[in-house]
Amino acid sequence: MLNVRGLTKKYGDTAVVRGLDLHVKRGECFGLLGPNGAGKTTTLRLLLGLTDPDAGTIELAGIPVPQRAREARMRVGVVPQMDNLDPDFSVRENLIAYGRYFGMDNKIIAARVPELLDFAGLASKADAQISQLSGGMKRRLTLARALVHDPDILFLDEPTTGLDPQARHLIWQGLRRLINAGKTILLTTHFMDEAERLADRLVILDHGAIVAEGAPRALIESHIEPAVVEVYGEGLDAWTRDHAGSVCSRFETVGETLFCYTDDADCVIDALNHANGLRYVHRPSNLEDVFLKLTGRDLRD
Ligand code: ADP
Repeated sequence: MLNVRGLTKKYGDTAVVRGLDLHVKRGECFGLLGPNGAGKTTTLRLLLGLTDPDAGTIELAGIPVPQRAREARMRVGVVPQMDNLDPDFSVRENLIAYGRYFGMDNKIIAARVPELLDFAGLASKADAQISQLSGGMKRRLTLARALVHDPDILFLDEPTTGLDPQARHLIWQGLRRLINAGKTILLTTHFMDEAERLADRLVILDHGAIVAEGAPRALIESHIEPAVVEVYGEGLDAWTRDHAGSVCSRFETVGETLFCYTDDADCVIDALNHANGLRYVHRPSNLEDVFLKLTGRDLRD
């Protein structure tokens, strides 16, 4: 569904996308992760033919981009980072207007609208104005709108940023339905739990290049010890100095917290239970641990 080879984009002398290779199969949910400035948005813009590459090739649904970008874009449903619904139109009218934008016949759009409203859980809000919708409803409508022309592949740019947990779960439910229905999804997200839940495979980008690629679970297993004990509280410095090296496979201190990565959490916890004043959280390692290990903990702009 998507084949990218050697994709490179420079702004001035700086390459912000550096020789990217991406291959996404039909029916796959593929994650594009990376800290701010890693090149995710630029990559999405390149894939849609909204900006021209300096080198490399892109084939989207078998169509070369940027050469035939308009044709390729007809096969893509885009859910942008910011909702850009038309505030002057009702829920239903937003769907209709978007269908017209894709040159669809009025009758075909009219037949499709009820199913899209149903998918978005907005059947009872069909005639509501956009200003009457909650943030979660707006996102669901934006997602349904992206499906109006029955695209083969969906580009989702941070689909749940700014939503509360209930609204996020509803979006995930919708995305799972699409994945089960065989749609291909390209997902960018800052939420590692979202990528872990939804993506079959993912790449982690940093400074415009891939630093890791694989299935979420495989990445966790190959990069991180199976358990993490986060330790904090009075006396942490002394405990770290005297014990961390012997009970943790690997550890790092970030601010007031010691992250202890281990194959044997019981051994760490046993040592902690003999220390006064220290508190801890014991959890399985996750994709965020991999992400932070590979891209560092420094803030990015
Ligand atoms: P991400 O989406 O991963 O946060 P971006 O693709 O937005 O990253 O940005 C990657 C880098 O390219 C950043 O350093 C950003 O400042 C730079 N950049 C993005 N767009 C432009 C532009 N139009 N002109 C110059 N630099 C840009």
